[in-house]
Amino acid sequence: MAPHPLKTRFAPSPTGLLHLGNVRTALFNYLLARQAGGTFLLRLEDTDAMRGHEKYAAALQEDLRWIGLDWDEGPGIGGPHAPYAQSSRGEVYRRFFTGLEARGLAYPCFCSEHELAIARKTALASGRPPRYSGRCRELSAAEAQTRFAAGAPATLRFRVAEGETVAFEDKVRGAQRFATADIGDFVIRRSDGTPAFFFCNAIDDAVMGVTLVVRGEDHLSNTPRQILLLKALGLPVPDYAHIALVVGADGAPLSKRTGSKTVQELRAAGYLPQAIDNYLARLGHTYADNAFMDLDRLAAGFEVARLHHAPARFDESHLKHWQREAVQHATADGLWAWMAPEVDALVPPGARVAFIEAVRANLTVPADARAWARILFSDDLRVSHAAHAAIGAAGGGFFAAARRALETHGTDFKALAATVKQDTGLSGKALFQPLRAALTGELDGPEMVKLLPLIGIERARKRLLEWCENGEKSKE
Ligand code: GLU
Repeated sequence: MAPHPLKTRFAPSPTGLLHLGNVRTALFNYLLARQAGGTFLLRLEDTDAMRGHEKYAAALQEDLRWIGLDWDEGPGIGGPHAPYAQSSRGEVYRRFFTGLEARGLAYPCFCSEHELAIARKTALASGRPPRYSGRCRELSAAEAQTRFAAGAPATLRFRVAEGETVAFEDKVRGAQRFATADIGDFVIRRSDGTPAFFFCNAIDDAVMGVTLVVRGEDHLSNTPRQILLLKALGLPVPDYAHIALVVGADGAPLSKRTGSKTVQELRAAGYLPQAIDNYLARLGHTYADNAFMDLDRLAAGFEVARLHHAPARFDESHLKHWQREAVQHATADGLWAWMAPEVDALVPPGARVAFIEAVRANLTVPADARAWARILFSDDLRVSHAAHAAIGAAGGGFFAAARRALETHGTDFKALAATVKQDTGLSGKALFQPLRAALTGELDGPEMVKLLPLIGIERARKRLLEWCENGEKSKE
């Protein structure tokens, strides 16, 4: 049989904003589909009556697009298996419920929550798995009818054969085996008529042609039940890869406290989508190459076999590393769009490209660009404490020499420094530190060769003049 083309999916429940953990699952599925030239599908799992789910469904689509994860089939795009929101697929699930009931593979269960809770407790206390006892399993159709007629609420349970084993090869965790005796008959439709989450989830994966399900290992215990269902319905069973969850520094699942951020928070903090992609594609997955990559290259090197078994630990310093890389690799237009809200009012239009190329290596967030724009293009220079000390140590004669050199060489920093070196006999740190300190107010930063032309001769002259007298500010 010809191998089927790979089809992966992201199937979020729109109960909140996308955060690092679930966007990583989306990214893995996306990269695998792209790697194989397959299809990446988006499905909204919004069956439960949830508050605000329209808002979250819209937000998560915007977040996915922002981060570059375009889907080939799904909401907003359509496709052969529309609709892609489960809230609109009730008819599909009803058809399968009816089919299962008609074949005696599912039966109504009238046990109350209270009765079930007691049975569960008793089972656990005597060391048995807390599976359903099977009490309503053999109710006759007439008996069930009588209870329905009396208005008794019923769930629909799937009948699980005793004494069998559900086995599958998890693409990350290897061979998995579950005894049906431990599973017991399970609820596929609640007494209010709504389908169970894992029922719709499995049905949709099968009917939408999904061939590989990559999801968090918190769903592993659903998988044997889903396989039983799909087999009973004669539907294709996808491959499964259950990935370890992302944990915080304390080893517990990532939470707000341990650094879990929503995509929107990261975006507001100035993170670039490429930084998030490069970081997350390595969070629980190893590349042969540690270079910064665009999505196509991230996809080309992404393999299920390289996914880790162990939990992936979130480390903000790694995210920051990829952020700096993303800033280095961004186009000038891309960086301008990113920093414009912070610096547009400060940077003269003609100096944009030179400004970006001068400061790019020193930026992590747009606020850093603002600091440099103020230094280069505003008249009130704030001189740091350390810079002040370096200026004081150099003395007024040094700056008089620097001013003369400026008049001779203009903003050619190399020539200016060479002349000051000649005139003062200073070199290395003793030469460069006070020049940088007086001209930028800082001891560190981008290359002066790039900064001085942006500061311009007027401003540079004023800044040097201020320290010409005797190393102290001459006009206060
Ligand atoms: N809607 C489920 C969730 O958001 C999907 C689980 C799965 O990927 O199968 O957790």
